[in-house]
Amino acid sequence: MPTPANILKNTFGYDTFLPLQREVIENVLAGRDTLAIMPTGGGKSLCYQIPALLMDGLTLVVSPLIALMKDQVEQLRANGVPAVFLNSTLSPQAYQENMEWVREGSTKLLYVAPETLLTPRIFSLLSSLKLSLLTIDEAHCISEWGHDFRPEYRQLVSVRQRYPQAVCLALTATATPRVRGDIKNSLNFSQSNEFIASFNRENLFIEVVPKSDPTAQTTQFLKRFKDQSGIIYCFSRKQVDELSAYLATKGFSVRPYHAGLEDAERQANQEAFIRDDAQIIVATIAFGMGINKPNVRFVIHYDLPKSIENYYQEIGRAGRDGLPAHCLLLYSYSDVAKLNYFINQKEGEERRVASQHLDAIVRYAEDKTNCRRKPLLAYFGENHTPDNCNNCDNCTTDPPTLTDITIPAQKFLSCVLRTGERFGAAHVTHVLLGSKAEKVLSHGHEKLSTYGIGAELNQKQWMHLSRQLVQLGYLKQDVKFRTLSLTPSGVNALKKRSTILGQLQEAETPAARAKTRTTALEYNQALFDLLRQKRKELADESGVPPYVIFSDKTLVEMSAYYPQSPESLLNISGAGQIKLNKFGDAFLEIIRGFCRQHDLTEQKKDAPRPKTDSGGRTAVIGEAYNAGESIQSLMERYQVRKGTIIQHLERYLADGNSLHSSSALKSLTSTSPEEQQAAAQAFDELGTAFLRPVFDKLGGTINYDELKILRLLYLCAQNQPKNQ
Ligand code: ADP
Ligand code: ZN
Repeated sequence: MPTPANILKNTFGYDTFLPLQREVIENVLAGRDTLAIMPTGGGKSLCYQIPALLMDGLTLVVSPLIALMKDQVEQLRANGVPAVFLNSTLSPQAYQENMEWVREGSTKLLYVAPETLLTPRIFSLLSSLKLSLLTIDEAHCISEWGHDFRPEYRQLVSVRQRYPQAVCLALTATATPRVRGDIKNSLNFSQSNEFIASFNRENLFIEVVPKSDPTAQTTQFLKRFKDQSGIIYCFSRKQVDELSAYLATKGFSVRPYHAGLEDAERQANQEAFIRDDAQIIVATIAFGMGINKPNVRFVIHYDLPKSIENYYQEIGRAGRDGLPAHCLLLYSYSDVAKLNYFINQKEGEERRVASQHLDAIVRYAEDKTNCRRKPLLAYFGENHTPDNCNNCDNCTTDPPTLTDITIPAQKFLSCVLRTGERFGAAHVTHVLLGSKAEKVLSHGHEKLSTYGIGAELNQKQWMHLSRQLVQLGYLKQDVKFRTLSLTPSGVNALKKRSTILGQLQEAETPAARAKTRTTALEYNQALFDLLRQKRKELADESGVPPYVIFSDKTLVEMSAYYPQSPESLLNISGAGQIKLNKFGDAFLEIIRGFCRQHDLTEQKKDAPRPKTDSGGRTAVIGEAYNAGESIQSLMERYQVRKGTIIQHLERYLADGNSLHSSSALKSLTSTSPEEQQAAAQAFDELGTAFLRPVFDKLGGTINYDELKILRLLYLCAQNQPKNQ
């Protein structure tokens, strides 16, 4: 009897389970109803596909995403798993054939849409079979509290009643506690076996950049992702059409996608993207629900999304294969104004909620200090995330320097006061800039002492300043009318002329930083390109998307380890026995040829290579440092702060390398030789694993940042021959 781990390896070609996959699978096999909540890309499919192969009867998979079924079934068949689907897209003849397959018992998995399932035809088909596992995908659709309620889902409980012996597995990527309770109640779960995976998608690099020249910023970004797939989300259909047309003139392989296109065209564009015939899709939020493409390498938000939830769902479509992917949000306050305009057309509760959602995403976008993952994950109830993820803009760049903004802040606060605390930021700014706008003149605001005293900043800078004053608690903003008034601390600051620190936006916002992309594994790009071409050929021959043949991750590993025999190919992630039989030779031939031509040999794939890019980067940074590159230059090259470089160097040492102890390191610390001596003694005594005891021993006289530098110096010295 094979085990789940055997099937994982032999059928699907993977060595290890993703978080909670094993637990969910074992729970299902133990006959317990299970609710599993995992993020997009978390590997939900295997949670029922592996049990399906181990249970003796049929596994029924209910999903509302009709467009995905064909894809899922193709992927399963490519791995030699007998699966079919039944839904309204099939011709009567194909439908009949599939029914026949199921009736004969030649299939292990049957995918159906809920409305199809609830028909007498299917009930009669199922009555002749043993149903072992009932899987409800996108289970949040059962709840009216979810964002995508489907009434048919409510009737699924009748299916449970008909087949009481079948285990039920409910899966979803989004479920608040309320929705979770609802799912379990509606499905009559006897036990409350619930598995909730972390929503932290470690492989996504998350970045927010001020939107200054969005088309230029986008083209510049795209140039770094040559030949790679990505999605650009825009606010409106018009924007989608314009941007995709523009990018096409610049030579990018791009297609538009929105609800205003003819069905056929929209479908064709999506298909082209999935099949790697078009690289980039420019879309409204309508795009993405029905796609399963694992190798989306970037998601750009050209406009501000409406809420954190939308945003997280959309960036979640990147990097489902676990390889690094880049998420860029272009942020400008004028987008906020645009969204506000639409919110103001709503009423009552709906308007209040929409406005709260918008405020949350604005706070997120304007935060330049905290890790981006914190607010995102807090939204899903995960509050214990590390302070530094090393994979977002805020964690990899120095925090912005704060400047003294007392004078402009005074001007602004005082102008708010003088205009009677009855106006929004735009009007106050107009007054400061001495505008002759109708609204200014009609209120007689040109007579105020604050009229025209703010020429040192432009409109944008004033607006940015006003938002900071709200954030810092000097001003408050009326939720409904957006008017500004002073808080007690604002009144106080104005009276006492106390110093206010903040950021002054530069007059010209810098264009997106060019950051080099790194992957989990160093691999041979030329070979990868050849393998990808082959994959595309094979995919087109059999009329399936390329990732049904092999994922990017599989090709990346092939181009890193150069497997030359079927046995070593089996060691590659994602290469199971059936795929090997079908496609192995075609790929091996290319790899062997390439290796011969370039004099390369097979690399052993044993010890798991570093999972994130930081492992590879540690070595690169350590070597560059040893080759004489300065810390300053490393900071600039990788756009990271000093602390991060020091961390890498420490890790480099810990990996068994040595570092040239030199004046470069010594110059990093501002401590005196005596202090360094005392710290070294403390490390001698207390070890280097924890800084807290050392800090305490030194009476708190040396701060942690300094201690980290001194620890590195200490470790370096330990590693040196004594006479150096
Ligand atoms: P979800 O439905 O949760 O979004 P999928 O089931 O589509 O996720 O899986 C996402 C990707 O991860 C797929 O490409 C899948 O083949 C891959 N995957 C799933 N399980 C594993 C595993 N144990 N090891 C490596 N890759 C996996
Ligand atoms: Zn971070």
